[in-house]
Amino acid sequence: MTKYIFITGGVISSLGKGIASASIGKILESRGLKISMMKLDPYINVDPGTMNPFQHGEVYVTEDGAETDLDLGHYERFTNTKATKFNNATTGQIYNAVISRERRGDYLGKTIQVIPHITNEIKDRIRKVGEVSRADIVMVEIGGTVGDIESLPFLEAARQFSRDMGKDNVLYVHLTLIPYIKCADEIKTKPTQHSVGTLREIGIQPDVLICRTEKPIPEEIKDKISLFCSIQKEAVIEAPDVETIYQLPLVFKKQILDEIILSHFKLICKFSDLKDWERNVVEKALYPEKKVVIAIVGKYVALHDAYKSIFECLSHAGIHNDARVEIKKIDSEELEKGNADEILSGVSGVLVPGGFGYRGIEGKIRAVKYARTNKIPFLGLCLGMQCAVIEYSRNACGLKDANSTEFKKKTKHPVISLLIEQQHVKDLGGTMRLGAYPCRLKKNSLAAKTYGTLAICERHRHRYEFNNKYRKLLEKKGLVISGIFPGKNLVEIVEIKNHPFFIAVQFHPEFKSKPDKAHPLFRDFIKASLEK
Ligand code: GLN
Repeated sequence: MTKYIFITGGVISSLGKGIASASIGKILESRGLKISMMKLDPYINVDPGTMNPFQHGEVYVTEDGAETDLDLGHYERFTNTKATKFNNATTGQIYNAVISRERRGDYLGKTIQVIPHITNEIKDRIRKVGEVSRADIVMVEIGGTVGDIESLPFLEAARQFSRDMGKDNVLYVHLTLIPYIKCADEIKTKPTQHSVGTLREIGIQPDVLICRTEKPIPEEIKDKISLFCSIQKEAVIEAPDVETIYQLPLVFKKQILDEIILSHFKLICKFSDLKDWERNVVEKALYPEKKVVIAIVGKYVALHDAYKSIFECLSHAGIHNDARVEIKKIDSEELEKGNADEILSGVSGVLVPGGFGYRGIEGKIRAVKYARTNKIPFLGLCLGMQCAVIEYSRNACGLKDANSTEFKKKTKHPVISLLIEQQHVKDLGGTMRLGAYPCRLKKNSLAAKTYGTLAICERHRHRYEFNNKYRKLLEKKGLVISGIFPGKNLVEIVEIKNHPFFIAVQFHPEFKSKPDKAHPLFRDFIKASLEK
């Protein structure tokens, strides 16, 4: 029978619930259990696809083309789980489904209410994840902070779960903050007591408490938390700040959190020690021999979460290459105003990530030009590839007005444009080219060498495409088209010769990297940057 773990958060947001959940997933998986992980998001948007990155952070794209919360990225990076559209549900989706059913008349004249109709829909979706994945344990992270109005239906569904499935089959983990008050030189448990109190009012008694803390928690404080919150002392888990997020599974393992969970579920599993993870990921991340500075030129650099997977992916490439990857975040608008040579001086590699809209584009194009002409390793992702094509068209092919129709509708040389099927799309939500598409690589190209194969599959999230009308000309002028989506003959990868490493891809490789298996494009981009 499938077991369920619910993870809630208390006191404040941004405590790292997603990373804590992924880390629990990791230690359970290492015991030989099949797990599946799900995120419930209390906002009313159907998905984060239409949200501004400043609001939401990165939109994580699954293989099956769902636009989801970035926590699913942590789940896929820490564990072997595969995220799908079933693994993220929002209030918007839940209400959408219930209201459509009501309009069809499926409820046979009943009054539709939060309990039971909305909560039933939530529970059905959680159970569905268990069925589809055939997991031993389904982990359900509930977004937001306990006490928020919006998350109440999700918490109510979580409460009902232990009644439906039996107490022994459900476990509640609450992540909370133990703040340190500097002038008193004390750590405080009161916010945690209140947060657990609020959960109890809803009818949930947590079984495990994960305490985020800057300072070590003394035994007597653990006793106090245990007493006030009715939690076994050993289940009061300390989660200190860590240098790399990949340490967290080791931190939990040391406090036998896996054993605590297994004994709650009365499961007997094989032994595990996470030694490989410690050696191949954590130690390499903590003690690299080399260092390399990479510029990320984007519009959303002020918000770390906006490029989450890219940062993680670069750190994986660093782990592989025994190097600390230092990131220089460059606001593309600054680059429009300032001197590119000055701003970019001293960086060993330039990365232009994805994005939308014209603001900052000319700065990104300047960054591409700088990398191309100064022979600095370059990696372009999605919009970054489109900028590389525009830059090459303008500066190497004499098409002075080259642009994307996203930025200039009536441009003379629309080297990036919309396919016919996109031209009449009205709804913005969920209508881009989304999810995994196969790509055929050109023999002996940089792409083929990097991937070590000619057939790859990568995830997409964009509306605009390389305009095939310009393919011949650009190729004649030296642009190498090294990746094609055969189904529609679409250009997916471009590169240039006589350059240490210059490659730009229409897809998002950053969604498919693991700390112990860096994505080949990032791996070789960092390698080339180190050689630089
Ligand atoms: N704005 C571009 C497009 O829609 C690129 C999108 C992206 O970088 N994800 O095609």
